[in-house]
Amino acid sequence: MTVQLQQRPHVAGVWLLLCYLTGAWSIPDPRHREALIQLEAFMQTGGQMVLTEAEQQLDALLFKMKQEETARAEFPPAVHFFKARDLIRTSPIFKLLQKMPKGGALHVHDFSMVDVDWLVQNVTYRPHCYMCGTDNQSVRFIFSAQTPRPLSHCSPWVLLENLRAKMVNSTDLDDSITHNLTLFTSRDPEVVYPTQDVVWEKFEQAFLAVWGLVTYAPVFRDYFYQGLTQFYVDNVMYLELRALLPEVYELDGSTHSRAWTLKTYQDVTRQFTTNHPDFLGVRVIATIHRGVNASVMAGAVEEAMELKKSFPDFMAGFDLVGREDRGRPLWYFRDALSLPAEKGITLPYFFHAGETDLEGTDVDQNLLDALLLNTSRIGHGFALLHHPVAKDLSRKKGVAVEVCPISNQVLKLVKDLRNHPAAALMSESHPVVISSDDPAMFGASGLSYDFYEAFVGFGGIKSHIGSLKQLAMNSIRYSSLESEQQEKALGLWQRRWQKFVSKWTFSK
Ligand SMILES: [Zn+2]
Repeated sequence: MTVQLQQRPHVAGVWLLLCYLTGAWSIPDPRHREALIQLEAFMQTGGQMVLTEAEQQLDALLFKMKQEETARAEFPPAVHFFKARDLIRTSPIFKLLQKMPKGGALHVHDFSMVDVDWLVQNVTYRPHCYMCGTDNQSVRFIFSAQTPRPLSHCSPWVLLENLRAKMVNSTDLDDSITHNLTLFTSRDPEVVYPTQDVVWEKFEQAFLAVWGLVTYAPVFRDYFYQGLTQFYVDNVMYLELRALLPEVYELDGSTHSRAWTLKTYQDVTRQFTTNHPDFLGVRVIATIHRGVNASVMAGAVEEAMELKKSFPDFMAGFDLVGREDRGRPLWYFRDALSLPAEKGITLPYFFHAGETDLEGTDVDQNLLDALLLNTSRIGHGFALLHHPVAKDLSRKKGVAVEVCPISNQVLKLVKDLRNHPAAALMSESHPVVISSDDPAMFGASGLSYDFYEAFVGFGGIKSHIGSLKQLAMNSIRYSSLESEQQEKALGLWQRRWQKFVSKWTFSK
């Protein structure tokens, strides 16, 4: 089916023209109908991809699998991810997507890369780990050689090794810690998180809980290595990390500079690529919370310019994080964000924009403002369909939208992923990449779950092997890598892709 579609776009174009010229719309002609169907298929993500014979075989298999998937009693993309996760894990399409070389993950945050089980079972069992319980039912952690100074709005610190030593079984304690480090719950998510405010509050509390664990220097290094491992085993070969670059601390309470933090990311990446030569590497997008004021932002932009100068190949650029609906809009920071252009210094931007359903508000202008400020990609772009000018500009300027389906569902922008706005973007091959945002917060990992939701959910029955191939290739084409590095990456990806296709078709 796919091959016919891609070989005959000119036919479709000709038929359309004929339709217009002859005014034949009043009498439905099956040939016109076929031409229109082909034209739409040609326009979608991957619609122009030329497929090999092996790819066509895999496509036929995928089509069958997808039909079976849609016939399931509960269709996973229509269900909240927390309830759908087990369903997805049993899906043959998901198993295939796990094996698929997916290229790069371009929208992932620093402290939500690793399964929280690892944090609980590995990190909180290390010596010198203290915990306290906050007034608002969350927890905080710190590693310290002595009992740390009390924290306001928190209970007295308890040394976890002492606490566990008094227990016959620490499973309940571990479960309760786990519950505080992620949004994932086995209870009904609609009941636990009835509104965006509730889910964002828990989201921010969970980040603060994770913070004291992952900013401890030995954990910081291990966490990042473990994060890379989880993406690597999910067949991701490259990562662009949004990183807050915190002041990482040691057991004696001393702290390191942001440059040290960035250098440590670089060292760990080098160590990882030495151990895994088919992993291409990492680039860092420095981030700051959008809740700061204009002068703090100006300082952060200055510092980011310095870091970009010191780490030209490792640092990709700059972005703002935090809930868009509650933070300040990009326009508020226009003076600070114009500093690099004023000084003639290159600091590429990768702005989160349009992660909102508040149409018409100041925050809703972020999409246009991001483009005005020359953003290299758009994080989320959930509201893009409401902004035809921004949409047009993003296509013309080749500014890809980083679509994170599970994040948008869990943070309550969309319920049924078949209705995700990226469905419309993919139907006209708008530049998009698929990413996972904060997989550990959502009980996901790597990229495969989000690829599943994109391919089966809003991709619908019409997305095919060409769509998957296009999405993976987009993740390299729209990365911050220089064109020469992109060619190298595409070559490496292509070899892995061919191996994947032939292995899968051969095994069936
Ligand atoms: Zn994000």
